[in-house]
Amino acid sequence: MIPRKQTGNQTKTYITDPLKLLKRLNLTPQQMFFSPEAVQEFRFKVPEAYVDNIQPGNPNDPLLLQIFPVQQELKSVPGYVKDPLAETDSLFQPGLLQKYDGRALLLVTPGCAINCRYCFRRHYPYGDNTHLWDQIKQNIQKIKLDSSINEVILSGGDPLSLSDIRLAELFTMLDSISHLKRLRIHSRFPVVEPKRISNKFLNILAKSRLQIIMVLHINHAREIGSDSQASIEKLCHQQVILLNQSVLLKGVNDNVETLTQLSETLIKHHIIPYYLHMLDRVQGSAHFEVSDNNAVKIHQQLRAALPGYMLPRLVREVAGEKSKLPVYGK
Ligand code: SF4
Repeated sequence: MIPRKQTGNQTKTYITDPLKLLKRLNLTPQQMFFSPEAVQEFRFKVPEAYVDNIQPGNPNDPLLLQIFPVQQELKSVPGYVKDPLAETDSLFQPGLLQKYDGRALLLVTPGCAINCRYCFRRHYPYGDNTHLWDQIKQNIQKIKLDSSINEVILSGGDPLSLSDIRLAELFTMLDSISHLKRLRIHSRFPVVEPKRISNKFLNILAKSRLQIIMVLHINHAREIGSDSQASIEKLCHQQVILLNQSVLLKGVNDNVETLTQLSETLIKHHIIPYYLHMLDRVQGSAHFEVSDNNAVKIHQQLRAALPGYMLPRLVREVAGEKSKLPVYGK
């Protein structure tokens, strides 16, 4: 039930059976409105390190709500679709997305440390991965031929799902492209599976000539446990610029107290609260939606409570738009 998977020099431990998780947390399937069908739609997976921060006996725990498969996911809601950002239309080659000028996004793996139930790529057609590495290499060749690209964004899935050997290879290829200046990595690993920030990985970062920006994804201050703090500190020592993006989620962080606490905790650990995203309307996630009115109200309260540098921008992504759009104001 808890598979141990060896990657590089690390042992990762995950829970993949929702019932075993409930047993451990002293909760029943009825209390959680558990749906095995929802697991068929989108696999259940959570690292032990994340589970350690969930409060046992609390069916409304904000960390648990993010990952637990529930009956509401099966409800069909108008406006909720499989590809809410029309990403398959932005592909100019499988695994390479160019939505914004100067930047290219490489999808390097379908794997994640954790499966978040609201994920906008929960239905993404990653396809057959047999030739994924060949495809990545071809995409890097494309980037090499386009000198207008100065930043590569590694995404997925979660790029840190790749082994250190693969990442080292990837970094070497990208380092050799002279027009690239920055490498951005979107990852939830430093927080949900902090041991992934291994010395080997830190060495890969240290060797790169590129400026490294890591965009973390933390929705609630309680996700940052003591192991996560240690990993974040190591990344800071490596001169990695740390930003955070959160998703505004009903029942998880849709109030000013929780978001204030989150910003306070992020800043304490040298992470800039960058974006607060509206939910992408992906099929199966409607129960997480916060209305625009409520979102604006919460954000205005947050604006009054926090200094400007601690206030994340309230934005949404709209398919076909050149950049993220502010939900209100400019
Ligand atoms: S870690 Fe990111 S990509 Fe993976 S399931 Fe969660 S939101 Fe989606």
